[in-house]
Amino acid sequence: MTPTQIAHDVIRGNRRALARAITLIESGREDHREQATQLIEALPKDREALRIGLSGTPGVGKSTFIEAFGLMLTRQDLRVAVLAVDPSSSRSGGSILGDKTRMEQLSRDPNAFIRPSPSQTHLGGVARRTREVVQLCEAAGFDVVLIETVGVGQSEVMVAEMSDIFALLMAPAGGDELQGVKRGIMEIADLILVNKADGDLKAAATRTCADYTGALRLLRKRPQDPQDFPKAMLVSALHDHGLADVWHQMKSLAKWRKDNGHWTSRRAQQATHWFDEEVRQGVLSHLTSHGGTRDLMDQLRTDVGQGKISASAAATKVLKTL
Ligand code: GDP
Repeated sequence: MTPTQIAHDVIRGNRRALARAITLIESGREDHREQATQLIEALPKDREALRIGLSGTPGVGKSTFIEAFGLMLTRQDLRVAVLAVDPSSSRSGGSILGDKTRMEQLSRDPNAFIRPSPSQTHLGGVARRTREVVQLCEAAGFDVVLIETVGVGQSEVMVAEMSDIFALLMAPAGGDELQGVKRGIMEIADLILVNKADGDLKAAATRTCADYTGALRLLRKRPQDPQDFPKAMLVSALHDHGLADVWHQMKSLAKWRKDNGHWTSRRAQQATHWFDEEVRQGVLSHLTSHGGTRDLMDQLRTDVGQGKISASAAATKVLKTL
């Protein structure tokens, strides 16, 4: 099958074609990469899903949340795709995210599609794959694409760079733990969802939510935010509390951004970001895949380490080989 044929089947909503396309995208083979690029190029550009990034540390309730939230959406006849970005999966060889046993009901739902994290060696490869799979899912007619990641700096930023809305799932905490949330992460979040607001944890969750509300108020106002965004909310994924409100907030935020031109400009800014990133990665892999240049780089790295040549002079030598 040609890439164009696969693209055609993906657009028609064929699941097997979607899985096949993803396998092509995830492949490390050079000829597969070429076909994957052709496939992506053959996709229509006029289908858009709401891309929601979701992050949180292990145990905070991500899979419980996605299962409940996803089922709520599919009950509304929306089609939901769940993708995972797990930076640790390259080391462990397996994935702790997007595991079907973690979202048992949702994985059996015909309106849902769940794809675990690929085990690739570097975040750059995972970023490209995820971005392209998001595009595939949009072309396949999904209404919502959820991109799940664990709360470790780099992967969060990467997921935020491919999401329309970014939500951070947090656990109820004692007052001083708030300090542990990196300011940078607060700055990219649209919603902070304090989970486990039920039973014995409810009081702590309510306090934590108030603390985040206070902390968010101190952040500089972003032009892409309407009144009272970013905001902190209480949810209980386990008891399905607050999820309808979360969905309502997401929809109204998306609408506001669309009405005010921020939606289009954000997607455009993200596309240029990924273009720059692809070029950067491409140059790097071009340099390191050529034996001669690789040897030169190894030699210069040693020289720089020993103080024989400055870092910038050495880099210039390498770049001249391009
Ligand atoms: P993940 O590692 O972030 O995907 O977290 P899980 O969804 O696997 O949840 C970790 C644990 O927290 C499980 O035992 C869940 O049952 C529990 N949990 C998740 N959401 C809630 C909630 O809203 N309330 C309570 N009390 N427990 C929850």
